[in-house]
Amino acid sequence: MLSDTSPKPCGGGGFPPPDFDPDLIRRYDRSGPRYTSYPTALQFTTSFDAARLKELAQFSNEEPVPRALSLYVHIPFCSTLCFYCACNKIVTRNVSRAVDYLERLHSEVAMYGQLFDDDRELVQLHLGGGTPTFLDTGQIGQLLAQISGHFRLTDDSSRDYSIEIDPRTVSPDTLDHLREIGFNRISMGVQDFDPAVQKAIHREQPCEETLSLIRHARARGFRSTNVDLIYGLPLQTVSSFITTLDRLLEVTPDRLSIFHYAHLPHLFAPQQRILESQLPDSDEKLRILGAAIDRLSDAGYVYIGMDHFAREDDPLVNAFRDGTLHRNFQGYSTHAQCDLIGVGVSAISHIGNSYSQNTKALSNYQESIGAGKLPVDRGLELSRDDEIRQCIIEQLMCAGEVNLNQVLFEHRLVRGEYFANELEHLQPLVDDGLVTLPSPSVIRVTRKGRYLLRNICMIFDRYIEPDAETPRHSRVL
Ligand code: SF4
Repeated sequence: MLSDTSPKPCGGGGFPPPDFDPDLIRRYDRSGPRYTSYPTALQFTTSFDAARLKELAQFSNEEPVPRALSLYVHIPFCSTLCFYCACNKIVTRNVSRAVDYLERLHSEVAMYGQLFDDDRELVQLHLGGGTPTFLDTGQIGQLLAQISGHFRLTDDSSRDYSIEIDPRTVSPDTLDHLREIGFNRISMGVQDFDPAVQKAIHREQPCEETLSLIRHARARGFRSTNVDLIYGLPLQTVSSFITTLDRLLEVTPDRLSIFHYAHLPHLFAPQQRILESQLPDSDEKLRILGAAIDRLSDAGYVYIGMDHFAREDDPLVNAFRDGTLHRNFQGYSTHAQCDLIGVGVSAISHIGNSYSQNTKALSNYQESIGAGKLPVDRGLELSRDDEIRQCIIEQLMCAGEVNLNQVLFEHRLVRGEYFANELEHLQPLVDDGLVTLPSPSVIRVTRKGRYLLRNICMIFDRYIEPDAETPRHSRVL
């Protein structure tokens, strides 16, 4: 029996293959969340504090079956600035800045280690940023040692211990070291191999070196390599992007993410250095996306959903087919029902039925940890309504189908007219063929709807008005 603080199980179903419909995508293009959480971080408030987080962490230890843990560690430093960047990072070439930060991270890991019982295994670990490999191999090793001193690392072969690497600065020796200390997955940004595009975004990264690192990682036993690409960058064309994909397909990365570049220079200062006149227009972006999807499908990649593709033999594809796929702050995942602990500046945790975010300012972060406090700045405890909608959105995102009555029943609510408004707003999407309603309470995403998942999910997001723009979220085009 799950307690009220448990994330509710979501799953079941399975997607049909997608159908890319440019006209429909153009018509439905509006900004919206990627739903790595529901509610999104925009709803977090300062009324949620560290004291409440500690209570919820302690409640979470009382589950009859110990729930696994996932740990995200944020390393905010980058040695150079990519002009498209919208991340929370600190650009510096002063490597000594990492020393103090690392010390604080060690303290925060220790504080969280004390909150969770020893029988809770750490099945997922992710070092993200910023640039985690801004730390040297010795510092990363110390961090891993600190984590293993305070958490029970699982020996299970299904564990996912991953790190984002910067191919411009990481050598094969560094990869060897990362493998030796326990990482089994790597993720890297490529964006585009075209030298002119790379110059325009201030990220010059030779193709051959990147491919050789991917080959090296596979030879050294990393179970998976994820590569991030971005479409919509300056000077990008269908041809440049497909050339990039073709080069990458020489080494068949296990997972590929193709994100849209959202040009929001009023929100993200580095983007002011991108020349708007060089940006592809929405028709060209649509052609790039369509051509990329065709190329990847021809190469045997499976579209998981929301920008993510995986090789046929990747565990994500199995999870996607058997209805056990999940979604969290790191995107799609095979790990169900973990409590997620986020450490480091701006990191987000998901513990029990709460989300919380650390302070985004480095000075505040250092100060809180120095005073022996968890640096929680804001958060949210999900209401019953939030939990229901979270479950619906996750099922749509991961399984492509949801039975509204079933979800209401699981949350101990009578069916009634709870979603009468949402079903009314869903009707135009039914008429346009994005979803079908095989029964009055079952919503099934169609092949056409798979590229418009966020539009479908937004119908159930009570924080978004049906036709309002949400300028802090990205668009498809
Ligand atoms: S895109 Fe990544 S590597 Fe580039 S500046 Fe932003 S966080 Fe750093």
